[in-house]
Amino acid sequence: MSSRDFVYERFSEFYSAPSTVIPSPVSLGQREIGFLLLKERIMLRHKVFARIRDLKLFLSETIPSDVYRSCAYYENPAAEMDKKGWLGADLVFDIDADHIPTSCSKIHDEWTCGNRECGFNGKGITPENCPICGGKKFDTKTWPCDLCLESAKNETAKLIDMLEKDFGFSSKEMSVFFSGHRGYHVHVENEAVKTLDTVARKEIVDYVFGLGLTVSGGKTKGKSRRRRAARGFSLHDFGWNKRLKLGLQNFILNATKEDLKTAGVKGKADNEILENKELILKRCVEDGRWDSVKGVGVGTWKKLAEHVKDLESSKIDTVVTTDTHRLIRMNGTLHGKTGLKKIEFPLGSLDDFDPFKEAVAFKEGAVKVFVSDAPEFRLGGNVFGPYKRKTVELPTAAAVLLICKGRAEVAN
Ligand SMILES: [Zn+2]
Ligand SMILES: [Zn+2]
Repeated sequence: MSSRDFVYERFSEFYSAPSTVIPSPVSLGQREIGFLLLKERIMLRHKVFARIRDLKLFLSETIPSDVYRSCAYYENPAAEMDKKGWLGADLVFDIDADHIPTSCSKIHDEWTCGNRECGFNGKGITPENCPICGGKKFDTKTWPCDLCLESAKNETAKLIDMLEKDFGFSSKEMSVFFSGHRGYHVHVENEAVKTLDTVARKEIVDYVFGLGLTVSGGKTKGKSRRRRAARGFSLHDFGWNKRLKLGLQNFILNATKEDLKTAGVKGKADNEILENKELILKRCVEDGRWDSVKGVGVGTWKKLAEHVKDLESSKIDTVVTTDTHRLIRMNGTLHGKTGLKKIEFPLGSLDDFDPFKEAVAFKEGAVKVFVSDAPEFRLGGNVFGPYKRKTVELPTAAAVLLICKGRAEVAN
């Protein structure tokens, strides 16, 4: 049996099983539904379903590797793009390890330039352009690792905090999902966001990134004027001001020499900070008297604030949020790169949520596979690997994951 047939059969069983529940998005009949067919590898778009059971029947008959639905609502979802009659769209955020710099990505992620004549390759985050030929297409080999998903979860927590406290969305208006691969999705469904255009959505993205937030100590030269400028600025308790204040407190309190170096603090300022932490936190961060500790000047504060802004911002995928016609993976369906489910979980359970337990779709059976290369991984409460050119019998979920990630083949 070929590996693709094996995966096809498992996906087929999943979509045919009466126990499989695909939760319906709000106003299903106004959404465009799209599919990537598993065997044919072609994309079907502009489909529309009135009821979720019609969609489930379609899934069990066509067996897609991936199922998408529009974040938009349309008068006529089945029409061509410019004739659909856009009525509005949910506000969606995608947080993916692909966009987060983690130390482990250098170990498990690889990219190769898609330009065959070039073929340049590297490790870590895929660049936007090939450094040799400038090409934009890449073949990538990534891994949904525990650490990467922890970082993605961290970014998700920061985003949710901003949406709640700075934008004022209630937990009822927000939903959070594991994407089924290397990240999380946050959806906001609310009348106020529905008709926001791309420009307005870009402003929200900029806020989340802290883009355009200028950390300035004033342009003044000379001691007395600089002092006045520095004295006149204290961080208040809302929005980015509060985020910077808490972030600075947290950073300074826990900072090591190495952290300060990473933040770009130069000269003797690092020792001054390390030796006067409490004084700095009280006089500078709390009271806003930024120049009151000798050796820690405006230049140092700018560097610290920029660094903290980077730590406190949330690394979302810009394109997903600004595209008002975006197709996004459908809740309850399988991810073609892992065989894991996209699933929703309560906002309050973000800390405890374990994607490698909750998102497992295939809970029965085992199969012998030849693994070319796989790091140690956790799935359904068990730990597997690492494997290198080895034939092993694995539970279905683990085998499907490795096959979908191109790391294993069914052993005949
Ligand atoms: Zn290249
Ligand atoms: Zn990782």
